[in-house]
Amino acid sequence: MSVGITDQTWCEVPWRSVFVTVDGVVRPCCDYCMRLGQLADQGALAIWESRFERLRQMMNEGHPPPGCGNCCAARVGKVKGLR
Ligand code: SF4
Repeated sequence: MSVGITDQTWCEVPWRSVFVTVDGVVRPCCDYCMRLGQLADQGALAIWESRFERLRQMMNEGHPPPGCGNCCAARVGKVKGLR
């Protein structure tokens, strides 16, 4: 069941940002604690259109993405966030 967009689970970063580590791991930002892809294996456009799209979909449906755990928890005051 979809719960819709919430302030605790939605952020604009996956619509405007790609963070790539020196070894090619792709994430939406430095706070995201999982990898969305490996640049050399999949390519930026494929990752953007698949894994990022899934992340954006989760946020639009109000589901907290697993890689955003600490950041989302910080928004509701459960932990101290980096932002
Ligand atoms: S970790 Fe935080 S800043 Fe990064 S995409 Fe998730 S909610 Fe946005």
